[in-house]
Amino acid sequence: MTTHTIINPATELPVRQVEQSTAEQTDEAIERAVKAQQRWREVAPGDRARLLRRFAELVDGHTDELSALETANSGHPVGAARWEAGQVRDVLMYYSAAPERMSGRQIPVPGGLDVTFKEPVGVVGLIVPWNFPMPILSWGLAPALAAGCAVVAKPAELTPLTAMRIGELALEAGIPEGVFQVLPGKGAVVGQRLVDHPAVRKIVFTGSTEVGRQIMTGCARHVKRLTLELGGKSANIVFADADLDRAAATAPYAVFDNAGQDCCARSRILVEASVLDRFMALLEPAVQGVRVGDPAAAETEMGPLISAAHREHVAAYVPDDAPVAFRGSAPQGAGFWYPPTVLAPVPADSIAYTEEIFGPVVTVTPFTDEAEAIAMANDTPYGLSGSIWTGSVGRAIRVARGVETGNLSVNSHSSVRYWTPFGGFKQSGLGRELGPDAVDAFTEVKNVFIANN
Ligand code: NAD
Repeated sequence: MTTHTIINPATELPVRQVEQSTAEQTDEAIERAVKAQQRWREVAPGDRARLLRRFAELVDGHTDELSALETANSGHPVGAARWEAGQVRDVLMYYSAAPERMSGRQIPVPGGLDVTFKEPVGVVGLIVPWNFPMPILSWGLAPALAAGCAVVAKPAELTPLTAMRIGELALEAGIPEGVFQVLPGKGAVVGQRLVDHPAVRKIVFTGSTEVGRQIMTGCARHVKRLTLELGGKSANIVFADADLDRAAATAPYAVFDNAGQDCCARSRILVEASVLDRFMALLEPAVQGVRVGDPAAAETEMGPLISAAHREHVAAYVPDDAPVAFRGSAPQGAGFWYPPTVLAPVPADSIAYTEEIFGPVVTVTPFTDEAEAIAMANDTPYGLSGSIWTGSVGRAIRVARGVETGNLSVNSHSSVRYWTPFGGFKQSGLGRELGPDAVDAFTEVKNVFIANN
């Protein structure tokens, strides 16, 4: 058994040691999950719903504890961490309505009747990244439990603490033993075993496109069901007819939220050339106004990066000769700090413009017309998110239809809500989470013909 030391990214001090699960322990957990799932699917829908609601209420009652844990483990500003714990509660509550609504269809056919059932897929392996440990766990967990599946979740090695605590709260709420298990450990050990074990019938993976590709290959061996939520390099498109004050005031939050460690980060700002100078003049004070500092302080808007290695990765996109237009602030001393950074002008082949940086670095690039803006937004293998700022409804609709991406906002910097579908185009992923149809991703449709003679 090996252990991993959790480091507080704001202080660099150790928080706790976490034992890393082995491949054998993963197999044992999967075997427990198989047995537990057979009983869980038989729990009356109203009782499954009640247990999910009780689970949501317990999470709600532990908001302070969960958010403090996330702030210490991940460096998330405590206000953001409270929102994240609230998201777990809300997602559990939303999907608690599903067990009693999982009806099939009846289809009249010659010689009898055909009825369809939605059957749970079985045991689900849920592999979670380090950037949003709580929300992303809940996005897979809640609809899977609602559908009658059992879940074995593997949090990221760096950020297991809130998932482990949420696992305890599930038991306290009365979710039967084995229905939801949390196994901290390495991707190449626990994650890989979830992918390779034949009794795991579906993988829900959120993480990098590179690892997602490996997981897809692994799942192909078993024809295993799979949802992939992968990387992004989204565009924030600002037209000359937009409310430039609002577009500039919110642009920092569209990319520097969670210190830019956000798959939906709008990390390429595209601005109509005729208003570029005005936009940059408005953006500079907005970036400098982002409050970067101690994540435990209520007023903090941006905390540190997750690790020293990740800070090095981010810094490599901003070499000494990088075209830094302006920067925000960051504390000195202990902690993996990196200031909000705006790069402009940036050549279209520069890696800062083409690759997912996953840190608080954004590029600003001018465009000349609508067609060019759409072409630039689409000139990436990713397609996860994006924003469009314009005063014209017609243009908003045309551009929204033209941009190849799964989640867009018009005159707003955020497009993620748990009651609307979420997922990516192109190499940003496969399948959709959240929204009213997410439970279907954890069920198989079975049709049964009943002869009438
Ligand atoms: P990552 O791909 O390195 O790891 C994600 C998870 O996969 C971790 O739990 C890791 O331990 C596990 N893993 C690693 N190798 C594995 C393997 N061989 N088999 C099974 N599991 C394995 O990603 P990360 O660095 O933790 O997260 C950042 C990435 O996640 C970014 O690319 C970001 O865009 C993406 N992301 C996407 C979304 C989305 O919803 N589309 C949301 C958040 C993050």
